[in-house]
Amino acid sequence: MIPVTKPFLPPQEEYLKYLDGIWKRQWLTNMGPLSSELEMHLKDFLNVKHLLYVTNGTIALQMAIKALDLKGEIITTPFSFVATTSSIVWENCTPIFVDIDINSLNIDPNKIEEAITPKTSAILATHVYGNPCDVLAIEKLAKKHNLKVIYDGAHAFGVKVNGKSIFDYGDITTCSLHATKLYHSIEGGLICATDANLIKKLAYIRNFGFNGPEAFSGLGINGKNSEFHAAMGLANLNHIDAIHEKRRLLTERYNNGLKNLKATAPTWHSNGTLNYSYYPLVFDNEELMLRCMNNLSLNEIFGRRYFYPSLAKTLPYLEPKELAITDSISKRVLCLPLYYDLSLEEVDLICRLILRVQNN
Ligand SMILES: *Cc1c(COP(=O)(O)O)cnc(C)c1O
Repeated sequence: MIPVTKPFLPPQEEYLKYLDGIWKRQWLTNMGPLSSELEMHLKDFLNVKHLLYVTNGTIALQMAIKALDLKGEIITTPFSFVATTSSIVWENCTPIFVDIDINSLNIDPNKIEEAITPKTSAILATHVYGNPCDVLAIEKLAKKHNLKVIYDGAHAFGVKVNGKSIFDYGDITTCSLHATKLYHSIEGGLICATDANLIKKLAYIRNFGFNGPEAFSGLGINGKNSEFHAAMGLANLNHIDAIHEKRRLLTERYNNGLKNLKATAPTWHSNGTLNYSYYPLVFDNEELMLRCMNNLSLNEIFGRRYFYPSLAKTLPYLEPKELAITDSISKRVLCLPLYYDLSLEEVDLICRLILRVQNN
C-alpha cells in the first residue's frame, strides 16, 4: 500500500538516547531542556527572530488570533486545511472568504481590498503547499487598512522568500509539526513573531497566562508541548537535509515522468525556495482526475484531494459561498504520494498508472 504520506521516523536508538536524559532529569513537560533546545535549534535552522514550540498547529493559530486581540471579520482563504477557518470561528471572529489566484492557489491579493469592511481586523492566509503568498502585496494592503496579518505556515517549513525566512513575514506565522508534515515532532506546532513584546505575550498565553507562580499577566491557555515530543523533533531535525534531498529527487522524478500529462502544478513564487512538502497536480477536468485517482487506488496507491471541497462550501457552521476559482481548482486537484520512504521506482509506477488513464 502506498499512502499519500508517511511519517519520517529516525533510527530508534537516536530517539532512545534523548529518553535516557528525560528519565535522569524526570522533567517531562513545561518547557523542559529538550523543548528549549529544540526552540534554539529551530530558530537557528529557520533563521527567524523569535519562535515558540507549542502543542500543535491549530492551537498556534488560536493563540495568534487571541494575542493580536482580533475581533469582527478576518479575511481568509477557502483553499486550506479546516483548522485555518475553524480557528477563526473558535475565537469568535467571522471568516470572510476571498477567492484564490488561479496560478499560485494562494489567496488573491487583488481580491482582498473589495472584501475589507469597517469590521475587518486581519488577514489570515495560508502558504498552500509551501508556496509563498504574495507577502509584499499583502503587507501593503495591511498597512494601508491598518490590518494585522497572520500566516498559516503549516506547509512552509524551511521556505525562504525574498532572501529571508517565510516565517518572518506578517505579525505572526504559525506552523504545524504534525506527524504527516514534512518535518514533525509527532504532534507539535510553532509560533513565530517578529515583535519581541508580541512573542512575550504569546509565551504567557502558552502557559495559562502565568507570570510567576502566583501571578498572571493575562488570559492564557495550555499550549505547551512535552519533552517526549521535543525529543522526536530534535531527532528528526538531524535528518532534515536528507529528508529535503529525497523529496527533491522524488519531485523531479514525478516532473519528468508526468511531462505529457494534461495537468499543471501551482506557479511557484518567483523569489521563493521550494520545500517539496506536497506534489499537487491540477488536472484539466475533474473526470480525468477521478479516473486517475481510481486507477491508483485499484493498485493500492492513494492520493488525496487536498483541498476538496472548498472550506467556503462545506462547513456546517458557515453559510456556503461560491468562489469560482476555488470551486474549480478544488474539484480538479490531487496530491500524489510524497514521503521519505517512497522509492523512485514507486514514483515511476504511479506515473505509468496515471498516463495509462490519460492515454486510454
Ligand atoms: C496540518 C495543518 C494545520 C493543523 O496543524 P495541527 O498541528 O494538525 O493542529 C493547520 N493548517 C494547515 C494548512 C495544515 O496543513
